[in-house]
Amino acid sequence: MLQRPHLTGFSRAELVALFAEIGEPRYRADQVFRGLHGRRSMAFDEMTDLPKSLREKLNELASASTLTVGSRYTSVDGTRRFLMKTHDGYPVEAVFIPTESRDTICFSSQSGCPLKCDFCLTARLGLLRNLTAGEIIEQIILVLNDVYGVGGETPHGTNLVAMGEGEPFLNFENLIKALEIMSDETGLFIVPGRVTVSTAGIVPKIYEFAELDRRPNLAISLSSANDELRDKLMPINKRWPIHELLSAAKAFEKTLKRGERFTFEYVLLGGVNDSDKDAEDLARLLRRHDLRKVKINLIPHNPAEQLDYRPSSPEQVKRFKEILESLDVSAYIRTPRGRDIYAACGQLAAKEEPNLVQIAGI
Ligand code: SF4
Repeated sequence: MLQRPHLTGFSRAELVALFAEIGEPRYRADQVFRGLHGRRSMAFDEMTDLPKSLREKLNELASASTLTVGSRYTSVDGTRRFLMKTHDGYPVEAVFIPTESRDTICFSSQSGCPLKCDFCLTARLGLLRNLTAGEIIEQIILVLNDVYGVGGETPHGTNLVAMGEGEPFLNFENLIKALEIMSDETGLFIVPGRVTVSTAGIVPKIYEFAELDRRPNLAISLSSANDELRDKLMPINKRWPIHELLSAAKAFEKTLKRGERFTFEYVLLGGVNDSDKDAEDLARLLRRHDLRKVKINLIPHNPAEQLDYRPSSPEQVKRFKEILESLDVSAYIRTPRGRDIYAACGQLAAKEEPNLVQIAGI
């Protein structure tokens, strides 16, 4: 289906060029940019600072929104999962995770995912398609509007994590473009320091990412310190095994600037990768690659019926952390959020379940 240009995915310069083409002055392009991103309008008709004739022209030529929200689920812990659809019918999921001091939105970079991580439900969808820059941004706008009302003030800072559906580094250009647009101070103004991008280990893109001037924080999903197990857990390891991945990680670490965060994510699977020896091997691996600044984010596995794994016991999670720390590796435990509504890490699979708590009608 031919789609009219989705202006939410246009950079400011692109909007200005488009407006020049249709005989409109630059300041009108700036007004539309502010309307779409600063006031989070999802329809040109809401932009009452534009003349009616221009709104009509824009309605004919372009679109201000393309995603529709099918369902929204709210967890007992306040997490909200949004199941959206693209204009051509593909699922997209975003998760709002509130805490007292800040809001975090976990967004998708692809519909589905081509990687086959064995502990992840999204893998079961396969890759449906890459999301456009506009679709990536619109997820954030939809979530903020749902939580705070259209254009409503966001009282806490908004942090973003590219950890929803998809492997962000396989949709690199659109992702980076979306992040650039979102960092504009007349728009959403979410600066790169508030964003974390997580990759399963697309090595060439880690090198490319390291060269970026303004870049978000990086997280690399590791989940095992030995190739045999990682091949099974994260088959992308067969393409770029651990020594290649950690060499890229080291190259990236050398470019780290003040204030930037760099983490390895380690999903703890009970009886699979959570023994004392696994923790020691992990610490040794980091030392071998001289990775001194990276921190480990321990993620107790989020179970789902279709997955053959169970989470590690809370005692073992704690022990794993203590072993790492005793070997001079900083480690944190991520508290699972939204497990009851299939919103937690690795659980996004466009699940529409009647027994989930659903609030319809947005
Ligand atoms: S863990 Fe991430 S990269 Fe791996 S299959 Fe799931 S969504 Fe894709």
